[in-house]
Amino acid sequence: MFQFRINTWFRNISIRKKLNFTIGIMAMLIVVELLTLWGSLHILSGVRAAVQQEGVWSKAQKNAVNTLQQYAYSSDTSNYTHFITFLEINEWDKKAFKELEKEKPNRVIIHEAVVNSGVHPKDASAVIDIFYYFGFISYVEKSLNIFWQADELMLELRDIGTEMHANITQNSKLNSTEISILFDKLGELNKQLSLLEADFSNTMGESARWIDDLVLTLLFAIALTVEISGVLLAMSLSRGISKGINEVIRVSKKVAQGNFDVKAEVYSKDEIGVLANSFNDMINEVHHINKELKQFAYIASHDLQEPLNTIATFNAHLQDPNSDWDEAKKLKARQFISKATIRMQKLIKDLMDFSRVGRNAEMKPVNMQKLMQTVVEQLHDQITEAQAVVSFENLPIINGNKLELIRLFQNLISNAIKFQTKGKQSLVSIHYTDNLEHHEFVVKDNGIGINKDQQERIFEVFQRLHNSNEYPGTGIGLAICRKIISLHKGKLHVVSKEGIGSEFHVSIPKKLM
Ligand code: ADP
Repeated sequence: MFQFRINTWFRNISIRKKLNFTIGIMAMLIVVELLTLWGSLHILSGVRAAVQQEGVWSKAQKNAVNTLQQYAYSSDTSNYTHFITFLEINEWDKKAFKELEKEKPNRVIIHEAVVNSGVHPKDASAVIDIFYYFGFISYVEKSLNIFWQADELMLELRDIGTEMHANITQNSKLNSTEISILFDKLGELNKQLSLLEADFSNTMGESARWIDDLVLTLLFAIALTVEISGVLLAMSLSRGISKGINEVIRVSKKVAQGNFDVKAEVYSKDEIGVLANSFNDMINEVHHINKELKQFAYIASHDLQEPLNTIATFNAHLQDPNSDWDEAKKLKARQFISKATIRMQKLIKDLMDFSRVGRNAEMKPVNMQKLMQTVVEQLHDQITEAQAVVSFENLPIINGNKLELIRLFQNLISNAIKFQTKGKQSLVSIHYTDNLEHHEFVVKDNGIGINKDQQERIFEVFQRLHNSNEYPGTGIGLAICRKIISLHKGKLHVVSKEGIGSEFHVSIPKKLM
C-alpha cells in the first residue's frame, strides 16, 4: 500500500523533482555511510585507548607490588609513598566506572577521572563512549567485570601495604619470617592480577575484532543499498521518461498516417504526462478541424450544387432557340434563376461567416444588458414583422468577445422568433443565472420545438429540420453559435419539447483562460 503510494507519487512529480529526489536519497545514504564509518572509527579508537589504558594500569599495579617489596626490605617510607601513588591509577579508574554506573552519570567527572588514570585527553571521550553507550555489549560487560574483580585484589594489596606500613612504623623493621609471608601473599596476588590483566586485554582484542567485522558488514550493506537504490531510482526515472516519450512517438506516427482515433496513454502527471495530454488535445483539435473540412467539402458539392443545378437547367431552356416555352414560362424560369442565385449568395456569405468566427478573439468585459439591446435593435424588422415579444433584465457584465456574442444571441433570438407555428405570437425571454464558476444564459421560446433525436444534429453545419419554403435559412446559424461558444471555452445545448418550445442554454466560464 505504502509502496504503491510512493510509486504513484514518484510517477506524478515533475522530472526536476524526480532528479532532486534521486540525488537527495543518494546523498542521504552517503551521509549515513560516512557517519557509520566515523562512528566505527571512533569506537575502534576507544577500544585501542582502553587497551592502552590497561597497559598503564597493569604497569602501575606491578610497580605498586615492587615498591611494596622494596619497602619490606628497606623500611624506607618513600617506597610506601610511591606504593600509594601507583595505587591511585586504579582509584581514578574506579571513580570513572562508579560514576558510569549511576543513573545519570556526569560526563565531566568521568572525563577528569579517565584523563587522570592515564588516558590521552584526545582519546578520553572515545573510551567513555564505549562504556557509556555500549555497556550492553557482552565484551564490554565482561571487561567491566574483570575490572571489578581486579579491584578487589587491589583492595587486598592496599590492605597488605597499610598493615605493613603500620608494622614498620611500630617496629622499624620486618623480620625475615614476616618478609617471607608477605612475599608469598604478594606473589599470589600478582599472579591472579596478571591473569585478570591478560583476560582484560584479550576481551578488548576480541571486541575490536568483532567491531571490525561489524563495521565491514555495515559499510558493505550500506554501500550496496546506495548502489542498488541509485540504480533502481535511475532505472525507474529513465524508464518512466522513455515509456512516456515512446507512447507519444507511437501515437504521432499513427496520426501522421491519418488515424485520428488514437490517444496517447498518460502514465504520469509530470512534464511528459502534460505533453501526452496536450498531444491528445491537439489530435482532438486536428480531428475536429478535419471533420469540419470534410463537411465543407460535402456542402460545397451538395448544398451549393443544388441552386447551381437549378440555374443551369433553367438557363439551358432560356438559351435554347428551339425551346417551346412561352413568355410566362420563361418569366417563371428567370424568377427561379434569380431565387437560386440569391440563395447561393446567402449560402456563400454564411459559409464565410462560419469560417471567420474567432478571427478576432479579443476578450474584454462586455455589458450583456447593453449587448442584448443592440441585438434587439438589429432584429427590429423581424421582431416587428412577427409581432414578437423579446424580454430580458438584469444581465451582468462578463468577459467575452463583444462582436461574436452579438452574433451568438442574434442567431438564437432570430431562430426563436422564426421557428414558430403560423399565427402564434412568439414570446422570447433571456434569463441569467450566476453558477459560481459559470455564467449561464437561457434563450427560451414558445415555438415549434425540436424532436429529441434531432437535438444534437442541428448544431452541425447545414443541418436543417425543415425546407427553406417552410422556414427560410441555410442551416449554418447554430454551427456558428457552437463555434463562438467553444471560442469562449463554454457549452451550448438545447432542451426542447415539440409543440411547447425550446430553451437554448449558453454556459460561459468566468475565467476564460
Ligand atoms: P437555420 O436557422 O438557418 O435553419 P440553424 O443552424 O440556425 O439554421 O438551425 C438549424 C435547425 O435547427 C433549424 O433549421 C431548425 O430546424 C432548428 N432550430 C433552430 N432553432 C430552433 C428553435 N428555436 N426552435 C425550433 N427549431 C429550431
